[in-house]
Amino acid sequence: MSPRRFDVLVVGAGPAGSIAALVLARAGADVALLDKARFPRDKACGDFIGPKGLQVLADLGVSEPPGIDVGDMMVVGPTGRRVVLPCYDGITYPGRARAVTRTVLDDALRTAALEAGAIAVEGRADLPLWSGTTLEGFALGSGGDLRADFVIGADGATSHVAQSAGLVDGPKVLWGFAVRCYLEQRVELPAITLWEQTRWHGFAGYGWIFPSQGGGANVGVGIGTLADRQAGAGAVRALPAYLDHLVGLGLLDRVPSLPLPRRLGGWLKMGMVGTSPASGRVLLVGDAAGLVNPLQGEGIAQAMTSGRAAAEAILGSAEGAAARYRHDLARTHLPYQRITAAGHAALVARPRAISAAGRLLTAPVVGHALAGGWGIFWNELLDGAAPGGARRVATASTWLGRAVTVGSGASRWFTHTFESPWAGADRAVVGPRASTLGPGPG
Ligand SMILES: Cc1cc2nc3c(=O)[nH]c(=O)nc-3n(C[C@H](O)[C@H](O)[C@H](O)COP(=O)(O)OP(=O)(O)OC[C@H]3O[C@@H](n4cnc5c(N)ncnc54)[C@H](O)[C@@H]3O)c2cc1C
Repeated sequence: MSPRRFDVLVVGAGPAGSIAALVLARAGADVALLDKARFPRDKACGDFIGPKGLQVLADLGVSEPPGIDVGDMMVVGPTGRRVVLPCYDGITYPGRARAVTRTVLDDALRTAALEAGAIAVEGRADLPLWSGTTLEGFALGSGGDLRADFVIGADGATSHVAQSAGLVDGPKVLWGFAVRCYLEQRVELPAITLWEQTRWHGFAGYGWIFPSQGGGANVGVGIGTLADRQAGAGAVRALPAYLDHLVGLGLLDRVPSLPLPRRLGGWLKMGMVGTSPASGRVLLVGDAAGLVNPLQGEGIAQAMTSGRAAAEAILGSAEGAAARYRHDLARTHLPYQRITAAGHAALVARPRAISAAGRLLTAPVVGHALAGGWGIFWNELLDGAAPGGARRVATASTWLGRAVTVGSGASRWFTHTFESPWAGADRAVVGPRASTLGPGPG
């Protein structure tokens, strides 16, 4: 008997893959949801689902998993000055985020996808399987092949699907690495700290202390490394000093003893730059597509919105799915990522400029005046924000960001990848078997 062939193979059952599988399975597609991990599994994260992620759950009628609602957030500047970023209701999203451990969140989303009819497969996507020049599946590390008309790469920042399909332009990628641990600490207000390890030498990232379920805290630090993946170890090295810093700020009662409880780190691929999100029958979603906010490292909401968008593009019709998906990303995420990827790339290697920006944004009058708009801009919430002063500040920041970054290398890469005449062209040859998902080429 020949192995079963699926309409869609989704590689990776994080938020991006599970949402894609859920939407496809509900529409009647034959979907395999492959993950190398046995669920429930942990994942390095600050555990915050942003407002747009909560809206995806509401839109899809998926119950929010148990967790803690969070609203305003405090930012502590390099000099210790504090600004509270208010969290406002948007027109298209709620005025709150939610802290849910990834063990709970990812298991709940995967379960919802399986209940909708997706087929769970445990195994590692290993050797790519080709039909001509079309990637149509993978041989599993544990043995056996999985083939499908479409492959969705939802396998995280270091995506094997993206590499296999030749969609990554390595030197252009904005990498980051972050590490977290869980501590026994009551947290009144989630806090992000912009930090100088020595005076006027800004840390190329930030630290956080967020409330977690059960009255504890999720504490971590993340660093931008541009294309240099060796530099990721800097986050791990910085964590003990960062905990000392939190004690100095009065945000942590005491420095915990080593080893740090449940310390776990992971890569972030930020700002979309360096990864082409789709070609032929391969669509990348979430971290695999680099859909992480280059300013604050959030990626769960983008993982869910892109997972849904990729599924809908495939359901539209078999032909042109990649182009439709690219168009959706160009409309929804590209305007923000284009500016902030360029800003991120320009700042990471300039510790003095990082210090200056952190000090300015948390300065007494400026910080207070900008806080509302800053909260909208930095959390990628302008699209769908309610009218008012905060929205105007975020809009002005966007215009300014666009003007300043228009000639940047990142901006040119996006123009080449998304807007050149051949940008949406499917590089892979369409496979021989007609898809059951849509009208096809007719
Ligand atoms: C320390 C840290 C803190 C963060 N904090 C936040 C936060 O507070 N809020 C936020 O929104 N974002 C945060 N992020 C980013 C967030 O974790 C990611 O954006 C999010 O997990 C992306 O989801 P995903 O589904 O694209 O990928 P993932 O969640 O990474 O899921 C990928 C899945 O693919 C599977 N996989 C990988 N390779 C293979 C293979 N070859 N075969 C089969 N399966 C495979 C993995 O096992 C995994 O289950 C943080 C990241 C880090 C590292």
